[in-house]
Amino acid sequence: MKISDSFIIYTLLITLTITLYVCYIFFWKKDNCNYTKDNLLNTQNPWYWEWDKENIKTLHSKCSKCENLLVYDENKYNSRVFFYCPSCNSQEMAIKGGNYEYSQFIIEREIKRKAKIGKYKKLN
Ligand SMILES: [Zn+2]
Repeated sequence: MKISDSFIIYTLLITLTITLYVCYIFFWKKDNCNYTKDNLLNTQNPWYWEWDKENIKTLHSKCSKCENLLVYDENKYNSRVFFYCPSCNSQEMAIKGGNYEYSQFIIEREIKRKAKIGKYKKLN
């Protein structure tokens, strides 16, 4: 009788844990999958991306005038990355503090931070 009781309790606990985990994953994903565009870190151009579970992929930014994909140029001497439009040739934004990989890292970190606290909901 005792064994059977604890078996039921453990089964219930495991079921509850799995249910909560599935709900968490489902709602987290559902909540964030609409958040795929934002002006981050005071950049003038919106950044676009896709969610792959909790990871960010295809992160890119577009020209505010012609919608073309921005390309980048690293300035190693003063640790800046310049993003500009290859069509208009206008400089669209600059990110300070490191190289291209660094700029992508801080943009991703900012996306995840906003997604986590739900701050972006006010913008959309
Ligand atoms: Zn352009």
